[in-house]
Amino acid sequence: MHKSIDCGSLRKTHLSQDVILAGWVHRRRDHGNIIFLDLRDRSGLIQVVFDPKSAPQAHNIAESVRNEWVLKIKGVVSNRPEGTINPDMPTGDVEIFANDIEIMSRSKTPPFYINEESDVDESIRLRYRYMDLRRPFMQEILVLRHKVVKFIRDFLDNYDFIEIETPILIKSTPEGARDYIVPSRVHPGMFYALPQSPQQLKQLLMASGFEKYFQIARCFRDEDLRADRQPEHTQLDLEMSFVHRDDVLSLIEELMINLVESIIPDKKINKPFPKITYHESMDRYGTDKPDLRFGLEIIDITKCFITSEFQVFQKVIEDGGVVQGIVVPGQGNMSRKKLDKLVEQARQLGAQGLVWIGLPEELASEDYDLENIRSSISKYITQEELKKVVLATKSSANDLLLIVSGEKKLTQTVLGQLRNSLGLSLELVDQNQLEFAFIIDFPLFEPGDNEGQWTAAHHAFTMPKEGQAAKLETDPGSVIADSYDLVCNGLEIASGSIRVHDRELQERILKVLGYNLEQINERFGQLLESFDYGAPPHGGIAPGIDRLVMVLAGLDSIRDTIAFPKTQSAVDPLFGSPGPVEDIHLDELKIRVLDSE
Ligand code: ASP
Repeated sequence: MHKSIDCGSLRKTHLSQDVILAGWVHRRRDHGNIIFLDLRDRSGLIQVVFDPKSAPQAHNIAESVRNEWVLKIKGVVSNRPEGTINPDMPTGDVEIFANDIEIMSRSKTPPFYINEESDVDESIRLRYRYMDLRRPFMQEILVLRHKVVKFIRDFLDNYDFIEIETPILIKSTPEGARDYIVPSRVHPGMFYALPQSPQQLKQLLMASGFEKYFQIARCFRDEDLRADRQPEHTQLDLEMSFVHRDDVLSLIEELMINLVESIIPDKKINKPFPKITYHESMDRYGTDKPDLRFGLEIIDITKCFITSEFQVFQKVIEDGGVVQGIVVPGQGNMSRKKLDKLVEQARQLGAQGLVWIGLPEELASEDYDLENIRSSISKYITQEELKKVVLATKSSANDLLLIVSGEKKLTQTVLGQLRNSLGLSLELVDQNQLEFAFIIDFPLFEPGDNEGQWTAAHHAFTMPKEGQAAKLETDPGSVIADSYDLVCNGLEIASGSIRVHDRELQERILKVLGYNLEQINERFGQLLESFDYGAPPHGGIAPGIDRLVMVLAGLDSIRDTIAFPKTQSAVDPLFGSPGPVEDIHLDELKIRVLDSE
């Protein structure tokens, strides 16, 4: 080794020892005669001192070095003089008195500061990712990610799971996105597809009798990217035989609690994890990924306006819509400017408008005097209606009521989004809290783009809940699935389900999804055939590792959890991918690229 000890590990116990260090110049300060360098390696920083009197040659060289040069330094561990101890640095009690220095590599001026947590444009960070990853903040995230994955492996190993790899070059495995496809040279005109997930493969492993499988699997999905999506993501893919839903959920709950408590013990985690049905989650939070760190639940107040003269509500109710609201405690005096912003936000989300009612600082139970109340509809509602609303929403003095009316799903979604932004802007969210929940009983199907078309809400292999299969052909939209998600702090962390293991049922579901028998056999024949040879009941789940690390580390972007991510437009600026290939490769593949103009 070029070094005898790591920079960040030096403490008083090493006093007077001769050490050899190697690392990057994090910072250099010239104090008259004496030069101070902070040397950085993965373990942290140590201050090194060059004194021209005791080591003139080393001092001379130290004068020439700059940030990010790589050095090897020999020296003695010494006490820092009185008054220069740095309690913010783990190594801050000591420093190295250098007697020799060797320059191992020089650096140009870096495109951004490595030694500061400054805001750097993401395209520059990704273009120079190897330097971005030198930043202690990024190193910490990747170390956390390593610990999370190691914890998962050890935990599952303890429960007798075995890790099995499955192929990357495979065939279409639908999870609701487009496939990335790879042309075959040996079979010109034929293509592999990269797995959107190992779904069918893990089910085949259950048919093979492995009973408990997992894999830290890469999944490839060609879809429009958002802040928390990437063309390729990593998931803990897991499958178990002979299980019911709650067997899978208990295992995942135990895994998450143990993982958080051992790796990031400073975070608060709720336990046990509540189970909320999809419909309840939509009704109370307007989303299937509720942030449960704060209240502001949605309340249906349609019945308060059944006889309303207010035309907007009247019309909505006549058309079968709803009137719903949230109570924001203590915000009855919210400024007009902020209220206007909320109204604008509601409109942008698709609502016709947003009604607000600010209750006065004092609200005696009989005092629903409209004169005292700030509201965008004080001219249109009656005292009686207001009273009903206050009672129905259990609101009290100085509360703010935000009300949206319209088609149920849209109303819920708009209020759900307003709820999320208010949770953040009013600082109702404890950033140190992790609030997990299982969302269960999703619909099996969602309406597709065209009338009468259905898509799988989770994926095509999900089992309908007991007693629900009878409605597959007659009322597919109402079929409830034995499926579940794990959510945390408003993000979906995992999805899973109990699977179909019977050919006839699987064929019926695939038919609802619009596949004919020929397509079913061509695309899913391998899985269906395995059901003909004795397939156990089975189910599983797949937590996304990138997203999990993002939540655990309290980050905003999934890209910060991935060593070499792609930009939002699916580009890697460091490698310049995707890029063209040489004609000779295309010829071998018998592929011609059409002009994209
Ligand atoms: N294959 C599913 C997914 O990738 C997860 C599962 O059902 O286990 O979302």
